[in-house]
Amino acid sequence: MDTIKNTISFIKDTFNSNEFIPLHEPRFIGNEKKYLMNTIDTTFVSSVGAYVDSFEEMMQKITQTNKAVAVVNGTAGIQVALRLVGVKANDEVITQALTFVATANAIAYNNASPIFLDVDADTMGLSPTAVSNFLEEFGELRDDGCYNKKTGKRIAACLPMHTFGFPVRLDELIKVCEKWNIPIVEDAAESLGSEYKGKPTGSFGDIGVFSFNGNKIVTCGGGGAIVSNKEVLGEKAKYLTTTAKKPHPYEYYHDELGYNFRMPNLNAALACAQLESLDAFLANKRNLAKEYTNFFQKQNIQFRTEMTNTKANYWLMCVELENKAERDIFLKETNAVKVMTRPIWQLMFRLPMYQEFQRDHQKNALFLEERIVNIPSSVRTS
Ligand SMILES: *Cc1c(COP(=O)(O)O)cnc(C)c1O
Repeated sequence: MDTIKNTISFIKDTFNSNEFIPLHEPRFIGNEKKYLMNTIDTTFVSSVGAYVDSFEEMMQKITQTNKAVAVVNGTAGIQVALRLVGVKANDEVITQALTFVATANAIAYNNASPIFLDVDADTMGLSPTAVSNFLEEFGELRDDGCYNKKTGKRIAACLPMHTFGFPVRLDELIKVCEKWNIPIVEDAAESLGSEYKGKPTGSFGDIGVFSFNGNKIVTCGGGGAIVSNKEVLGEKAKYLTTTAKKPHPYEYYHDELGYNFRMPNLNAALACAQLESLDAFLANKRNLAKEYTNFFQKQNIQFRTEMTNTKANYWLMCVELENKAERDIFLKETNAVKVMTRPIWQLMFRLPMYQEFQRDHQKNALFLEERIVNIPSSVRTS
């Protein structure tokens, strides 16, 4: 009981507030207003504009990739990324059940089926061991890819998610997927600024996708980015998300089914200003994580920190409670005094639309589902 009271007063002190303390709120401390006003002054508020180009250049640099494409949101980005690596109707995509619903939805939008495999207990992201075990049991390599012996369907992609900004074991996962000839799309929606062995998450897979939704580490209202080191995939991403129009001074000709998934220049203006603050935000959050680490050590509560060889962006910070009962008390008492805390997502196979798909034992996912709680993680301004 005391530990929860201590936690509440620590969080109120650290955010210097007696009002409602949200999990994550945006901070606009740079050129946001200036850039936004500029889009209005120039009339370039919509789907083309200088900020879209600048945003793509900045994202390319930040993620150390060959090509970055601005899109309307992260979910749409993942949907297109899966199509780009070859996912077609009736294919299957390996992912984790412990994720935000957008990951699974992006698979379903391609009329493909998710296969839900377990996460690692420490990273909370897709487990290379679980993927390897699954493929050794059900995988069959053919000329045109990997097939699932149980369903007869093609396993066309693997979609790991870097939970709360903690990178998954990418080296191991890449090794397994290479062995089984399965392309990787990284759902890096939560991990802008995170690194694995010194390189940015999102740059390891065939394609990586980021989100700039209001609750993410930096936001542009709504938005996303597709990044790739494979030039062909990057170019194709731009093409498909801008209606697949053949370049011509005035003719309209579209040679396949494209999407209007462009990010408006209005949003890109906000995104550029926010990306200028990314390094400051990362440092600010790293300090908060350090303070949380010291505090929770004394309370005997496990605060989640980054793994060796990785750098987490500490987007949403979290603690692991002893069991579900303890977790429920923690959630109730903190929210009662306007300190916002929230349990990790319910596993995808509990949702009505994802109940019938193939999955493994989910040992770690089930453990984490009952114990992990997010705590206030915003950039502090005072
Ligand atoms: C936020 C998020 C997305 C989708 O982002 P939107 O921009 O909101 O569409 C996808 N996957 C995960 C894991 C996310 O947290």
